[in-house]
Amino acid sequence: MMFGFEPDAAQCARAGCRETATASVVWRNPRIHTPDRRKVWLACPDHVSYLEGFLASRGFPVVVAAGVVDGSGVELPEAAA
Ligand SMILES: [Zn+2]
Repeated sequence: MMFGFEPDAAQCARAGCRETATASVVWRNPRIHTPDRRKVWLACPDHVSYLEGFLASRGFPVVVAAGVVDGSGVELPEAAA
C-alpha cells in the first residue's frame, strides 16, 4: 500500500460499526454466484471473525485477506457440500 493512501470507503461491513477496515472477508454464495465471482466484506479487527463465521456457518467459501482488497486473485476453497 502506498504511503498516505487512505481509502475513504474502507469501513467495516458490520452493521452499526464505523471502524476503519483492516481486513477483507472474501466470499461467494455457491447457489447464486459463479465460481469466479468474489464478494468482499471489509472488516475492522473486532469484527473480522464475526463476519467470517457468519458466512462460514452458511456453508459459503470464505477467505480472509489482510488489508483492503477487491477479492480478485483470491483463491476460495470449494463450497461445502
Ligand atoms: Zn467493525
